[in-house]
Amino acid sequence: MNNEEKQPSSLESLRSELNGINRQLLELLSRRAETVREIGRIKEKQGGPEFDPVREQEMLTELVAANPGPFDDKTIRHLFKQIFQASLDLQVQERKKELLVSRRVRKEDTTIQLGSTVIGGGRPVMIAGPCSVESYEQTRAAAAALKAAGVTVMRGGAFKPRTSPYDFQGLGIEGLRILKEVAAEFGLKTISEIVDPAHVELAAEYIDVIQIGARNMQNFELLKAAGGVKTPILLKRGLAATIDEFLNAAEYILAGGNSQVMLIERGIRTYEKATRNTLDISAVPILKQESHLPVLVDVTHSTGRKDIMAPCAKAALAAGADGIMVEVHPNPAVALSDAAQQLDIPQFERFMADVRSSGLLKDGVL
Ligand code: PEP
Ligand code: MN
Repeated sequence: MNNEEKQPSSLESLRSELNGINRQLLELLSRRAETVREIGRIKEKQGGPEFDPVREQEMLTELVAANPGPFDDKTIRHLFKQIFQASLDLQVQERKKELLVSRRVRKEDTTIQLGSTVIGGGRPVMIAGPCSVESYEQTRAAAAALKAAGVTVMRGGAFKPRTSPYDFQGLGIEGLRILKEVAAEFGLKTISEIVDPAHVELAAEYIDVIQIGARNMQNFELLKAAGGVKTPILLKRGLAATIDEFLNAAEYILAGGNSQVMLIERGIRTYEKATRNTLDISAVPILKQESHLPVLVDVTHSTGRKDIMAPCAKAALAAGADGIMVEVHPNPAVALSDAAQQLDIPQFERFMADVRSSGLLKDGVL
């Protein structure tokens, strides 16, 4: 009987002892995490990796050697491995926070000023123009239509990254020259893709924004060169790039000293065949949350379908995009690239009217 009377009280006291041990463990784990954080900061300054397998093995060997039981060595190893992993995750997370593209580092939206047009300032912009600059006449006809529709920023490729080496590769510097001449006539700002790091500095003489295309999103030498100039950069999401890879690519440019970077979602590869690529609308609010950089959506290369470009543009704006990119050609049937998906001028006018009618656009640019 005595025992029965004693049992509840001893269970209670053991439980309360256990609670105390839990709190001590928690305190020790938190202290350990703080120390791990400090180590992480030092490692970051030294440029070393977070994970140090030799050091981890040393700690495990020492712990197993000092194991007083009753847990066997395997269990001790397992428990501490969990603690080490949590610490490593903490260090990786801390480093992530430090990315220059991150909103945790900079709360305010980055804005890109192109003449009187501000990208990322709350008024979405429309960037339009031909896939490729093919001739002075073709570029001029497109520019006149853009101007009439109120567009202030024109695109036009001069260096074309084509899947086949036998396809039109672009007019190169001559294309940039045409773009510059036409833009000056209509008072437009220009965007064109640069593929060679050696052309990055030279590009500023011809264009207002350098585009880094999807195929070059992880061309690190090109990203570094883009970081070394003051020209704004429009960085396209890679064909199969994760959001994390996309942001890290942008980080290369910011880390190099150029903070004038815009991100553009242009569809990613999936199994879906109904569209050219799968437009990842969810990337828009995620990128806006994660980063302070302007986020745009290319409705041409993502969908590859004229019939759904307007609803996709509206969806992008509803999701918070700072702008839309769309390809327009005065005569798509004879276009030297992307003939099937460029809007002709009447189609472009209908597209603009449709997107404007959504009420998602403020007055002005769009
Ligand atoms: C382009 O915008 O001209 C282009 C080639 O697009 P992407 O790099 O997204 O394929
Ligand atoms: Mn194109």
